[in-house]
Amino acid sequence: MKQIYCSIFGHDYAITKHVTLHVKEYRCKQCKEQVTTNGNGDLIRLTSKYKEINIELENIHTKRIRKKRKVSIV
Ligand SMILES: [Zn+2]
Repeated sequence: MKQIYCSIFGHDYAITKHVTLHVKEYRCKQCKEQVTTNGNGDLIRLTSKYKEINIELENIHTKRIRKKRKVSIV
């Protein structure tokens, strides 16, 4: 039933994770479908492959932030 709601009204996405400044993961409040933003800013289904990519992106992103902070402290 919830999928029917989504097909009529569209998904009601809520952000579940900030991967980087531009990449986020979302989950539909109605049908629980998970999506993510790809490099072009399009919403795509969050498959296990994209989950792995996002984990990598997040690691790179947080490392960069740490580096920046270190530099600014010094
Ligand atoms: Zn939905």
